[in-house]
Amino acid sequence: MPERKKKSNSPSDPEQNPDSYWETKQKLDKRGKKLFVQQIFEDWCKGCGICVAFCPAEVFEQNKTSTPTIKNPDACTGCRFCEFHCPDFAISIHDRYPDRRKKKNGT
Ligand code: SF4
Ligand code: SF4
Repeated sequence: MPERKKKSNSPSDPEQNPDSYWETKQKLDKRGKKLFVQQIFEDWCKGCGICVAFCPAEVFEQNKTSTPTIKNPDACTGCRFCEFHCPDFAISIHDRYPDRRKKKNGT
C-alpha cells in the first residue's frame, strides 16, 4: 500500500503557539463558530471530482492534474459529505480547534 502523502490547510499548532491557539478557540466558541481542517491524501486520490462537485460550501476546486485543491477552508461546515463519499478514502475532516480538556462527567 502506498504511503499516504498528506496535503492540508495547516491549522494553528497548539504545541508551537499555545496562546494564540486558545485565544482563537475562545473567540470562535463565543461566536458559536467551528472551523475544520480538510486533509487530502494525494497518493490515494484518483481525481474523480466527487468532492469538488458535491461540497455544499465549495471548499475545493479541481487543479490541472484533476486532484482537488483546498480554496476556501473556512467555509467548511464539517458535514463530512466529502469524507463519506470519497471512493478512495482520500479525504479526512477534523475540528481545527478541538476541545482537548476532558469534561467532568467523562463525555
Ligand atoms: S472524491 Fe476522493 S478520489 Fe475523488 S477527487 Fe475527491 S479526494 Fe480524490
Ligand atoms: S465536510 Fe462538507 S463542507 Fe466540509 S469540505 Fe467536506 S463536503 Fe465540503
